[in-house]
Amino acid sequence: MGLFHRKKQTEDEVTVEPEPRRGLPRRPEPNVDGLRPVAEHRDYLLSMVRELPAFGQTLLDAAGLSLCEEIVADLDLPRFDNSAMDGYAVRAEDLAGASRAHPVVLPVSRSITAGDPAGDEIEPGTVVKIMTGAPVPPGADAVVPYEHTDRGSQAATFLHAPEVGANIRHVGEDIAVGDHIASIGDQLGPRQIGMLAGIGIDQVLVRPRPRVVVISTGSELVQPGFELAEGQIYDSNSFMLAALARREGAQVFRVGIVSDDPDVVAQSISDQLVRADLILTTGGVSEGDRDVVKAVMPGLGPTDFCRTAMQPGKPQGFALIGDDRTPVIMLPGNPVSAFVSFEVFVRPVLRKMMGVQPLVRPTTHALTRTIIRSPKNKTQFQRGLVTSTPDGRRHVTPMGGGGSHKLGDLARANALVVIPEGVEVVDAGHPVEIWMIDDE
Ligand code: AMP
Ligand code: MG
Repeated sequence: MGLFHRKKQTEDEVTVEPEPRRGLPRRPEPNVDGLRPVAEHRDYLLSMVRELPAFGQTLLDAAGLSLCEEIVADLDLPRFDNSAMDGYAVRAEDLAGASRAHPVVLPVSRSITAGDPAGDEIEPGTVVKIMTGAPVPPGADAVVPYEHTDRGSQAATFLHAPEVGANIRHVGEDIAVGDHIASIGDQLGPRQIGMLAGIGIDQVLVRPRPRVVVISTGSELVQPGFELAEGQIYDSNSFMLAALARREGAQVFRVGIVSDDPDVVAQSISDQLVRADLILTTGGVSEGDRDVVKAVMPGLGPTDFCRTAMQPGKPQGFALIGDDRTPVIMLPGNPVSAFVSFEVFVRPVLRKMMGVQPLVRPTTHALTRTIIRSPKNKTQFQRGLVTSTPDGRRHVTPMGGGGSHKLGDLARANALVVIPEGVEVVDAGHPVEIWMIDDE
């Protein structure tokens, strides 16, 4: 276990018998082709990760996170009766009958702006100049906007008889003390953050952002910005996966490229345990001679490598490593395979850790513009471009076919076309299941 830096022992430390290593739960049964159905692999991964423990965060840092407490308002909104307009606070009865033909003139006793106290009761037969958001003085029961007056300062001429309550925002009409305003499991978006700030809350208990480490493996890989030698390619996966995980709300550490050297791979993954709630790797998990991730991971912890019944993204790996049994999801190296694997497996896992629902993308439908063929016992995820016609019908143009290296098509797509197991052909014009992948 020398790989785990946190576990260094000095020589005079008493050696404690290690706990027997716990394995992974029973693996799902493969289908007739020896492949694991997609939903079963996803549920298997989900069964092995936990929601992160609740953590107090300042309000803005909680944006996008899942609330872990019930919130009951202890402040009314509006906090006090206040004016919705710039104008005059009046007693409505003083202006009964006022109109353009029969203007009423009343003296202005004082002026209140937002932030001022309400002050004394308004004298009958007088008015108080009032700005938007200023407290309505006791005794006033309507606000007449400037537009219906001559905007006078000493005295004002009124061309309009207001109704009782006109242009007053009443205490508690929006949120009243005791109202239940947010619940456990709510994802705090900008509007909820604004509401919580509005009732004076500055900290909330939420599930924290998962710390996600992203590692690309492959001796052919080069960091963008550097020169390529013959046979080399740029690392796109670690950037794409880091951006995907960040979009889900994770705090991402992109380690970048690790060469296909078993010791380096093992050491690089172990080194990340100090800062990871989840480790993602790409490459090295299929049947090639250089598939080092597959070779070294069993030495680090209980591991599950399987072939899933999906295309692209067939080879998948999972492990729980280190003292904290940190989950590691090992994705195939082809960029489109890595992307689809993230959508199908990693995104639900991240959302479970964050306590955010729904775990799986909702399925919608579109009419395919071209015929689609799919292998019988696999779920196929084609990339697609969805467009809508003015009558609201959605069409999808499948792109990329089986080309799991085609980054250009992937970048142009806005949907995945999901052809379930058992379906071999869908004719043009027929509905297909789609996932809109640009939706947050
Ligand atoms: P592997 O799964 O390691 O066998 O890689 C499968 C294919 O994906 C190979 O053509 C690799 O060169 C390519 N590949 C692997 N990792 C990356 C990466 N990070 N960025 C771009 N292509 C990659
Ligand atoms: Mg490789």
